[in-house]
Amino acid sequence: MSEFDGLEVGFDIPALPGMGEGEIATPCLVLDLDALERNIAKLGDYVRGHGMHLRVHGKMHKSVDVARLQMEIGGARGVCCQKVSEAEVFARGGIPDILVSNEVRDAQMIARLAALPKLGSSVSVCVDDLANVTELSEAAARAGTELGVLVEVDCGGGRCGVVSPGAAVEIAQAVLAAPGLRFEGVQAYHGSAQHVEEWAARRGALEAAIAIARSVVEALAAAGIDCPVVTGGGTGSYPFETGSGLYTELQCGSYAFMDADYGRIRGANGARLDAGEWENALFVLASVMSHVKPGQAVVDAGLKAMTFESGLPRVFGREDVAYVGPSDEHGVVDDPEGALSVGDRLRLVPGHCDPTCNLHDWYVGLRGGVVECVWPVSARGKLW
Ligand code: PLP
Ligand code: MN
Repeated sequence: MSEFDGLEVGFDIPALPGMGEGEIATPCLVLDLDALERNIAKLGDYVRGHGMHLRVHGKMHKSVDVARLQMEIGGARGVCCQKVSEAEVFARGGIPDILVSNEVRDAQMIARLAALPKLGSSVSVCVDDLANVTELSEAAARAGTELGVLVEVDCGGGRCGVVSPGAAVEIAQAVLAAPGLRFEGVQAYHGSAQHVEEWAARRGALEAAIAIARSVVEALAAAGIDCPVVTGGGTGSYPFETGSGLYTELQCGSYAFMDADYGRIRGANGARLDAGEWENALFVLASVMSHVKPGQAVVDAGLKAMTFESGLPRVFGREDVAYVGPSDEHGVVDDPEGALSVGDRLRLVPGHCDPTCNLHDWYVGLRGGVVECVWPVSARGKLW
């Protein structure tokens, strides 16, 4: 008789509350709930202390439970997400304020976006093209709803967004005149600048981005258009947007979980971001499944358990072993001192949290090494 004999046939979650870390089925996403709550509360205190608003980026975790925690203890008014299907999950989960921080151009998805306020949430979206204003307005009128609209500005990221203040003014005027739409302001977010490793270089990139955003807000003001929201900012840049006096709202995402890539970048004091500013709260828990060769262990977490475009995972809390290479279901770990044995668990800090979370169905929440909760990755796979 084993303690697992009572589990139902077809049991398909990786752990049950009360289990120890060693009993969780691996590979699996685990959350250190104490670290998560400290990260969330810390940014909450920061935004309150600076008179900013916070719409946390839900594309990072895709979790209604984490979003609720960010509202309860982290000062968030709601979430951003990138896709209508994610917004649908957050609206069904009762999140009151949802910004799709992205353009929506497909007719079906515009109709679904326009229907979403019927669930009771305030719903907003970004626009960078005049034609999209008409599309959104007609859909909102058909649905009998109202959508908030922000003009997206390309502030150097080279992705979506208008590239001239004149275009922003033209779109804002169209939004103000369009039935079913509410002009909210401007979004200016620079993705790649977040990850610039050195503080001074990152500050330089962000100063240039903020100057572009400012030129747009000034052009709107000159045209007599009030801009209640200027939103953007992420884990690598939020002090700069906050210090700008221009931005009213932050959209940080990764700060809550952290990852190996963000751990490497440097804060104002020159220290790594994971050396005090934010704690690692997300791990891919892996087990040693083979240790036949001297100096090498094999764990059960590879390309299907985390993504590698931002580099290899870091083995949390250990300097004596290193994850050196993945294949589909395996990870090779250098173990020069032979410290590991089959069955040992390693907490891996994934290179990039957002796409890694999207590979899993569940978060297992741990407190003091004991499973406290199992949360679905609610919007996992919601890519449309
Ligand atoms: N805002 C937008 C528009 C984003 O695309 C992202 C992430 O890529 C974020 C905010 C959150 O950034 P981070 O995860 O770096 O905090
Ligand atoms: Mn990311």
